[in-house]
Amino acid sequence: MYQAPEIQSGRGIAGNLSHVPGRVLVATMEIPWKLFQTRQSWTPHHVHFVDSMDKDAVEALPDTLPECDAVVGLGGGSACDTAKYLAWKRQCRLIMAPSIVSVDAPLTNTVAVRVDKQVQYIGNLYPREVLIDYDLIQAAPKELNRAGACDIASIHTALHDWDLAHKNMGEPYDAGIAAESQECLEELDRNAAEVYAVSPKGIDTIIDLFRREVEFCSRINTSRPEEGSEHLVAYNLERITRRHFVHGDLVGLGIFMMARLQGNRVDYADSLIQRCGLRYQAPNATPDEIRMCLQTLKVFKDKSGLFYSVVDTEPITETFIRESLKALYAQAEGERPF
Ligand SMILES: [Zn+2]
Repeated sequence: MYQAPEIQSGRGIAGNLSHVPGRVLVATMEIPWKLFQTRQSWTPHHVHFVDSMDKDAVEALPDTLPECDAVVGLGGGSACDTAKYLAWKRQCRLIMAPSIVSVDAPLTNTVAVRVDKQVQYIGNLYPREVLIDYDLIQAAPKELNRAGACDIASIHTALHDWDLAHKNMGEPYDAGIAAESQECLEELDRNAAEVYAVSPKGIDTIIDLFRREVEFCSRINTSRPEEGSEHLVAYNLERITRRHFVHGDLVGLGIFMMARLQGNRVDYADSLIQRCGLRYQAPNATPDEIRMCLQTLKVFKDKSGLFYSVVDTEPITETFIRESLKALYAQAEGERPF
């Protein structure tokens, strides 16, 4: 059942955590915890440093960690998800204090865990209290915070795929929610410079757009409005390399490639992901890995039983791959905003 979060933003607002009554358990990681501690002096009941998101490890936590009255997630996606899992299992108060806005974990109801390096989702608890501390978030590398724009920018390609699935396969489609998604995309576009600068306005924009997206996706019980073929590129590249990437790098690459395959306002898509500062050249992937990802995309989609998209309607030819890779790296040589 969807529950709207109460989001408080401000400089140093994570300091409010020290006023939380009872035994507070913090799920965090070393870097964000250190950054937080240089600003605030607070000793919670227990600090748990997240070291694994493997399903077995996460599921063992409620039995091994000390009892508590409230759980705080202070860090990135893994810290927030671990806290969410604990609070869900223990049915106690949950407070999110993200130290980066690279993923929507502080606002979603599910917990991303890994089974044999593949993502699975468990749990079900919508965070009610979210503290957005500009000081803490701005202390993180800028590119990680810009990466959060990817799951909003992905609306551009995802809406196209959703429409295709509706027209060709009769998949349920909601024109009102498609319009709300489009409005989120436009809001990101209007605020791209702030997102790039990681200004308070840019941070608030990302968080507010995550909030809206989580809310309308919960209404139709699908992430179709923001998850299309660009995410297939991301999942397949992770499968091929068996490495972990910044989600925004892979989804940025997916938007770049799939907007071309869709013939869907390519210049607009390029401009948006550039201005938000997504590293869509996926600097930690080689050209050969990206080529292989595109070559095997349809087979991967069929085998994994994932959703219908442009990958089902447009063949990914060698010419397409050559031209798109040329475009991808040609842009690397030109003017780059990052
Ligand atoms: Zn995503």
